[in-house]
This record gives sequence, C-alpha cells and structure tokens, in this order.
Amino acid sequence: VSRRRMGAKPKKAKRVAYRFIEPTSDDGGHMYALLRTLIEQHHTELRNAKIALAWNLAWKADVDGRLTLGMCRRVGDLERELHDLDSFDFVIILHEPTWRDPLTPDLFRRALVDHELCHASVKLDMRGEPEQDERGRVVYRTRKHDLEEFSCIASRYGCWKSDITAFGQALERARLRSNDRWVGYRSLQQELRDAGRSVPVDVIAEWTDDQRREAATWAALRMDMPARFRDEAVPPFLATAAARPETVA
Ligand SMILES: [Zn+2]
Repeated sequence: VSRRRMGAKPKKAKRVAYRFIEPTSDDGGHMYALLRTLIEQHHTELRNAKIALAWNLAWKADVDGRLTLGMCRRVGDLERELHDLDSFDFVIILHEPTWRDPLTPDLFRRALVDHELCHASVKLDMRGEPEQDERGRVVYRTRKHDLEEFSCIASRYGCWKSDITAFGQALERARLRSNDRWVGYRSLQQELRDAGRSVPVDVIAEWTDDQRREAATWAALRMDMPARFRDEAVPPFLATAAARPETVA
C-alpha cells in the first residue's frame, strides 16, 4: 500500500452516463407507448425498427448555455453483429432531468421524441425501395436537421436561402393551425358558459380531444334538457376545472 493511497479519500466509483429505459418500468410504459404512437402518426417507415430509449445522466449546458436534450444514435454493424437478433436499430437518448421536470409540458416531451425520430430513417435503393443488407436486414441511416442557422442571421437577413424559407413556411403553418385550435377552444368555452359553467380557455387547451368532445356533448345536452342534467352528471374533469378561479377571460 503506497502512502498516496493511504492518504487519499476513498475514490467514488465511476459514474455511468446512460441508463436503459425498461419498457416494463413505470416511465418506460408511457414512453414506449408515446414512441409507438408517434411512429404510427408520422414515421411509418420505422414500424419494424427496434428502437431503444435510454436516459442520459451527464449532459451539461455548453459554454453557450445550450443543453443537449435528446439524441438519436443508429446502432452500427458491429453492435448489431454482437447482439445479432436482439439488436436494436436505434437508441434515442433523453436528458433525464429535463424529461422529469414538472415544468416540462407533455407537448414538449412529444415534440422531443418526434424530433429524435426524424433523425431515424430507412436507406432507400435506386428504385426507392428500402435497402437490405446481405443478411436481409433493413439498412437504416440517420438524417440531419432540415435547417442549421443562427437566429441573429435570420433576424438580419430573413429567408436568405431556400431551407430557411421552407422552415419559415412550416412555422407559419403551425401558427395558423394553432390559431384554429384556439378559436375552437374559445367557442367551446362559450358553449360551456351558456350551459352555466365558466372554464378558463387555458384549462380547455389542456384537456384531451376526448375530454373536449365530452364537455361539448355535456354543454349541448345541458342546453336541451336542463332539468335532467344536474350537477352530478357533470364530467369530473369539467367539475374540477370550473371550480378553479377564472384567470383568462
Ligand atoms: Zn436533432
């Protein structure tokens, strides 16, 4: 035993930066379900891809204050070879503290996973068919971002090249869609008000589509047959929402 070792504090075990998210764990159940939903909605070419989710526990903000929140890594031929039939095709790595933060909205989590899925793609052959390797496995590739730009350049020069124009148009489409949604929320708010329930529009925005349909149905029935639909017939989410003080007119 050297003097240095005797004097040294007991060394902490090396930290492990990644943790596999088990599909059967509490988090995993929801997260893999979200992954499946997004694949069915927007990434059907990945239906047969085996995609793992993992936490990253070590990412820190860089010198510009930017923090990596997610990453999509394609599993290479060597790892595929070592794990053979059990091998994943991609691993989506997520920054655990951000994901778990109670201030992180579900829409943000959804957009993050959707973003990482955009990096995962199938390699196509000359005829536009999915390419297979010599063992008959689908060949995957990673896709880069549509746009890489500094916001100060966008602010100085606007849509100065075609990828920025396309990105600007996409933002505009999203803005119009979200306006439509808010108009829809406001008209539901009015229907509920007519039926005697005052619900803030930001609460209506948090409801699921099913809940909004249920609330609209309730409001319509309440207007048609007020006597038969007393307070106990109010859907529970609507009862609690209306009890909250109204913050948005
Ligand atoms: Zn990305």
